[in-house]
Amino acid sequence: MKEPLTDSIAAIATAQGEGGVGIVRISGPRALAIALRLFRARPEDIRERYFHLGSICGADEGTIDRGFLVFMKGPRSYTGEDVVELHCHGGPLLLKKVLAEALSAGARAAGAGEFTKRAFLNGKIDLAQAEAVSDLIKAQTSLSLSAASGRLDGGLSRKVASIKEPLVALLAHLEAELDFSEEEIDALPEDAIDKAVKEASIAADALIKTFEEGRAIREGVKVLILGRPNAGKSSLLNVLLEEQRAIVTEVPGTTRDVIEECVNIRGIPVRLMDTAGLREAKDEVEAIGVRIARERAASADLILYMVDLTSDFGEDVEILNGLADKKTIVVANKKDLPYVYPDAESAFPGRPFIAISALKEEGIEGLKDLIFTEAAGHEKKVYSAPPGELVASVRHRDCLARFLDALGRATDAIAAGLPRELIASDIRGAVDSLGEITGETTTEDILDIIFSSFCIGK
Ligand code: GDP
Repeated sequence: MKEPLTDSIAAIATAQGEGGVGIVRISGPRALAIALRLFRARPEDIRERYFHLGSICGADEGTIDRGFLVFMKGPRSYTGEDVVELHCHGGPLLLKKVLAEALSAGARAAGAGEFTKRAFLNGKIDLAQAEAVSDLIKAQTSLSLSAASGRLDGGLSRKVASIKEPLVALLAHLEAELDFSEEEIDALPEDAIDKAVKEASIAADALIKTFEEGRAIREGVKVLILGRPNAGKSSLLNVLLEEQRAIVTEVPGTTRDVIEECVNIRGIPVRLMDTAGLREAKDEVEAIGVRIARERAASADLILYMVDLTSDFGEDVEILNGLADKKTIVVANKKDLPYVYPDAESAFPGRPFIAISALKEEGIEGLKDLIFTEAAGHEKKVYSAPPGELVASVRHRDCLARFLDALGRATDAIAAGLPRELIASDIRGAVDSLGEITGETTTEDILDIIFSSFCIGK
């Protein structure tokens, strides 16, 4: 798997746009030599991990900027190789020029995620941690952030290792049994193998069950507010957005649009879908039928279906029947009014139900709890494990599923009294699947797919 990393790569590591500081990063065996083609300093003056102030010059056009050079000698660097960072002023043209000079001095333009890929290939971090770097950068709520930093810190990796290690030891024993005679090594009793396999299955099963919740925290959930005209959809939307506006506008650079797209509900980034459309449609007397409801609901993860407690539910029941395959919370609105249908909940059996008043802002906390538990796929109002230990990506879930399948085959092989070789081979397959999470057994094409979703410069 290891590729020879003989070339040196360079990229702008900071975000596009104007800023106080912008950083061009160079990594590879010639990082310092390349940087010293642009940065005016004598090589013997450069000390590891010091900020050196100086001029950054182009080959043809004189001084581009004054800034710092920082040299991190491998392996004590992010990528594990020699790394140089040129801390310039954060101007887009300026940074492009500095990068262009680094490229003409012999660096290659880094691909997406290539610095982090090198950190992985050089053993600085495992694959699950490398993936967490991308999640950390993209995190939208404090909970998503702490989940990503927990994974970067090795939370999930340690969990995976705790399942894998007993099996690796078991496998070592089984393989030794195949290599040595009965006099040389004691054969493990069948029930000891069976027990180890079952324990690993139980632990992996518990881990895979955290996927829905982990994914909701990592990726967020798309929520659609649906209901007949006048049910109170816009009012609820405003209540959900209003509270956030007070919190989020303090963050510089956030725009109204962003706020309206994503709200934080109990730590889950909730994307309220088509909010603009909802507002525009408000003045129209728009009849929502089963077909329209289904079309709109298609890409939502969760529907908040609003009914008006003061009106007849006949059409609502019909529309909801058409959404049988969708996760839906029935939000019965206007409970503040004197004449509401009693026992409305019984009209919507089998669906989570809550009565609220969007106008008086009553029941909103309970609704948020319901949104969290529905998105997380469990009953608890808080997450079920330290956030960094939740399975959050489809790739990790699939590796665990293959692990469980292979262990299932091993259990069957034990029960059928099949030869040890076959049992060992199933356990080997299981261990390899688990190893793909942390990257010990991941193929190059999968690595390419993973790192291509990163930004350039990371
Ligand atoms: P939409 O058509 O589903 O978006 O419904 P709106 O949010 O525009 O609400 C329709 C009407 O119901 C408006 O006059 C709201 O003020 C009123 N309304 C919304 N929620 C409540 C509520 O909880 N209680 C009462 N009494 N009126 C409400």
